[in-house]
Amino acid sequence: MGGLIPEEIIETVRLHTDIVQVVGEYVHLERKGKNYSGFCPFHQEKDPSFTVSPDRQIFHCFGCGTGGNVFKFLMLAESLTFPEAVRQLAARCGVPVPETAVHSGKARRQERAWLVNGMARDFYRHLLLHRPEGRAARDYLAGRGLSPGVQESYQLGYAPPEWNGLTRFLTARNCTPEELIELGLAMPGKRGCYDRFRDRIIFPIWDARGRVIGFGGRVLGDGAPKYLNTAETPVFSKSHVLYGLHLARPAIQQQGFAVMMEGYMDVIAAHQFGVSNAVASLGTSLTGGQIELLKRYTANVVIAYDADAAGQSAALRGMELLLQADCRVKVATVPEGKDPDDFLRRYGAAGWRDLLSRAEPLLEYRLRRGMARGDDTDRLLQEVLPGLARAGEVEQEEGIRLLAARLSLSWETVKNALGRYLDEQGKKWSNPDKIAKNTHNIIKSKPRTDAIHRSEQALISCIAREPSLIVAVRRELGAWEPRDEVLRAIYQLLCRDGTGTSPDAWMDRLEDAGQQLLSRLLLTGNSGAEPAEILPGLIETVKKRTRQEQKMHLMQELAEAERMQDRERINCILEKLNHILGRDAGRPHREGES
Ligand SMILES: [Zn+2]
Repeated sequence: MGGLIPEEIIETVRLHTDIVQVVGEYVHLERKGKNYSGFCPFHQEKDPSFTVSPDRQIFHCFGCGTGGNVFKFLMLAESLTFPEAVRQLAARCGVPVPETAVHSGKARRQERAWLVNGMARDFYRHLLLHRPEGRAARDYLAGRGLSPGVQESYQLGYAPPEWNGLTRFLTARNCTPEELIELGLAMPGKRGCYDRFRDRIIFPIWDARGRVIGFGGRVLGDGAPKYLNTAETPVFSKSHVLYGLHLARPAIQQQGFAVMMEGYMDVIAAHQFGVSNAVASLGTSLTGGQIELLKRYTANVVIAYDADAAGQSAALRGMELLLQADCRVKVATVPEGKDPDDFLRRYGAAGWRDLLSRAEPLLEYRLRRGMARGDDTDRLLQEVLPGLARAGEVEQEEGIRLLAARLSLSWETVKNALGRYLDEQGKKWSNPDKIAKNTHNIIKSKPRTDAIHRSEQALISCIAREPSLIVAVRRELGAWEPRDEVLRAIYQLLCRDGTGTSPDAWMDRLEDAGQQLLSRLLLTGNSGAEPAEILPGLIETVKKRTRQEQKMHLMQELAEAERMQDRERINCILEKLNHILGRDAGRPHREGES
């Protein structure tokens, strides 16, 4: 993962950096036994479940599951890439990083893109503020009630109507036409290239760190399309951007939730009225990439989309996606068919707060919409049961009560309807994990809890905490590997690098899921038991499971051989089966067999 910076430099930075000190600048940490704990900066929580281990130089949050080493922490906290995080910590502890080492072709191209987009923003901004051509745009924005201050915060600009104003400006500053086309600022034409945005109000679009990566343009007159965005470019992927995030970030973290809106104007208007935790999905469909981005800061989301049909069905789709990503989500319905922008103008910040306080969870929202359409009881149940079935135990109980009350049904009737739905879906009525862990309060990735997985996980936990035991595991289990993909990656890593390097160094060689799991295993332990004591039992369990699997497999083969009446094969399989069954019964077996 750290390919661009020489391994020995990464290692030096690691040795000179203390994770407790770095995290301590973001999180108030308190000593708890061997470790430190505090409130997680990556999700909202009532009890501190964010843990930092000075011994292993790693962190893990038992609430949202995120974890890794100091580089990972900085990447998440500051939205950095891995090389950027290394470079920042290197500067901090005075380790020189050769400039060329971090400047791959891709990184260079990206920095160039930020630079050129920044120049384009300045060009548009200058036209809006100081040029006669910008007058209509100035009047329009003033007419929408946007103060000069908020226009400045959002760096609004104006693209002139001429064909190549920006192109001429940038090519005079050492940009090539090819570059402008690649960045989506210009289009190839018969006589050179021409500007993509003409006679439009310009809204710069930034990444989470406030660097300009693209633009949106709104027509001034009646032209079409009304809104135009930068096409996908090397630095601009609309599905991974949330408009206004870098400005909304502090307020989102402070208030513990984000407001998801549809467009730039909504967010800017909201900001002007003091609603500073709003971001926009840039179009009507929220994407998985955008949700991942948002979840770095909060998992609590209120959707405030336009009141029209397109906006409302987009709100529903967005809610589904957010729920799937374990976010807690509500929808605020702007009354009288208004847009959030209109509503704010009319009722101001106080009206907005009131609107948010009445935001509904998905179930109530669906129910109210269905009732407004005049759906009958069966139809309404069909509409809400799938969502209810996916909810945690507590939400389910609340949902059943709510449905019974609203639909004038008995509690049993609703519960039975849900039970039937779940049966049809082939799921169990209740998930014991959900009751025990009270999932409505914390975000959890769904753990695989079957017995095989548990014993494999316990075994990996042992050797991660005591890498000298890897030799014994390999001797006993030979070519065995865990079934689970993430566990397997950790096992392979431990076999390769386990005894030579430290846990914080392992992290850089794992994907996110691996880092999260490994940091959890390292910080949880096996309920206090010493790895060396419990390992033999775990090895036995894994051996037994492996034999059971072989047995199952052979039984299937046997059935097939019997169907074909293949005597020779039947005998061969029976012999193998006897051998395995003998081992299960604890009979000694001959040396050299497996
Ligand atoms: Zn967390």
